[in-house]
Amino acid sequence: MILQFWGAAQMVTGSMHLVEANGHRVLLDCGLVQGKRMAARALNSEFPFDVRKIDAVVLSHAHIDHSGKIPLLVKSGFFGSIYSTSATRDLCSTMLRDSGSLQESDAKFVTKLNKEKGLPPVEPLYTAIDASASMRLFQTIEYGRSLMIFPGIKLTFHDAGHILGSATITLEITEGKSAAQTLVFTGDVGRKGAAVVRDPEILTRADILITESTYGGRHHGPMAEVRERLKAIVNETVAKGGILIIPAFAVGRIQDVVYDLHELMKAGEIPSLPIFVDSPLATNVTEIFRQHPECYDEETNKLLMEDDDHDPFGFEMLEYVHSPADSKSLNNLQESAIIISASGMCEGGRVLHHLRQWMGDSRTTVLFVGYQAEGTLGRKLTDGEKHVRVYGEEQEVRSRIEKIDGFSAHADEGELIDFIGAISPKPQKVFVVHGEPEAAVAMESALKRSGFKDVTIPARGQEFSL
Ligand SMILES: [Zn+2]
Ligand SMILES: [Zn+2]
Repeated sequence: MILQFWGAAQMVTGSMHLVEANGHRVLLDCGLVQGKRMAARALNSEFPFDVRKIDAVVLSHAHIDHSGKIPLLVKSGFFGSIYSTSATRDLCSTMLRDSGSLQESDAKFVTKLNKEKGLPPVEPLYTAIDASASMRLFQTIEYGRSLMIFPGIKLTFHDAGHILGSATITLEITEGKSAAQTLVFTGDVGRKGAAVVRDPEILTRADILITESTYGGRHHGPMAEVRERLKAIVNETVAKGGILIIPAFAVGRIQDVVYDLHELMKAGEIPSLPIFVDSPLATNVTEIFRQHPECYDEETNKLLMEDDDHDPFGFEMLEYVHSPADSKSLNNLQESAIIISASGMCEGGRVLHHLRQWMGDSRTTVLFVGYQAEGTLGRKLTDGEKHVRVYGEEQEVRSRIEKIDGFSAHADEGELIDFIGAISPKPQKVFVVHGEPEAAVAMESALKRSGFKDVTIPARGQEFSL
């Protein structure tokens, strides 16, 4: 088999790897590069291979850095099947359309800038309509079921415990008369004990492993501390009569935070106060979460049975905000409340107008629950900057800024090593992807310390014959 690395190679985003076996070409993930607009655009606007020669896509999960280039692939002539779990398919139907709309508004913005400089207009990478059109190529297959996608290539998904529907990908490849080889791609691996989704499913066999390394060199702290810290921060903010703003990623993180707040409120550990989820995408995504109880862990399923409303993501004090007018009316809150809103790194979305309204008030707490990339407003706030720009205007930060790392949907280094260590016998070859260079190098050393001999951090475009 031939393996080629085309994305998330020495970086986190743009996950895309190509496997060729028995004359068939299978793409593992087809993600967008996220980050600085111009650099990302250059990588996102084309494919480094002939799209019409790709026979299938196997998708690990719905996050845009893994799925976001699918509409462009289809628009460029791909007509094979896209294999995913049904939860991933349903999440993609909402998220890819949302991504298409973002591409359209982004192209409008760049076109406007170009016009001022006398440059030609730019086209969106793809539109919301292109995104919808790509959905017809999806074929779903559930965890633990195997499917021969081509002669000699058998696909199985196992739960990766990262977000709803997320999977590790196992391809059992038999070429000619040689013995079968098992290729495993971890996708993104979640944490043990996280809310809602199950723990990552232990893998038993892999000859060749492609692993993520997002948190290489990092340690998260125990899961149990997360809820305790959340409880303390809510109670301290309520004692001051303040508003708690939680910027969060619309898929996964918002549902985890809602779930934990529900639990704390039920147990009487935080007072009964209004909670607003103010993100249209999160509202749609939560609806998809409700439709996939087959992905829930035991605790969530129990809650589903015991709870009067049978809904882990909805309860009396919780309101999903729909219209922009309702969102704006939150500016008039008179008493303590929690506003959960996207985007998680405060790079756009409704969270910005909440920050503008409440960040100047010393009773407010802004609580970050996810990774904050360099250069983002979220990073500036967590770095302690006291003056920031919101909607182009300077704003003083008087509110308290807090951060809980443990909500991360990614395993830390130790958890990843445990996960990979369970594979027996050890894979002969390990490729480290999906990490900033520093994290990937830390992961490589950790793997070598644990007895893995052949570990490689592939460069973009590098090819391996195995
Ligand atoms: Zn992910
Ligand atoms: Zn990822």
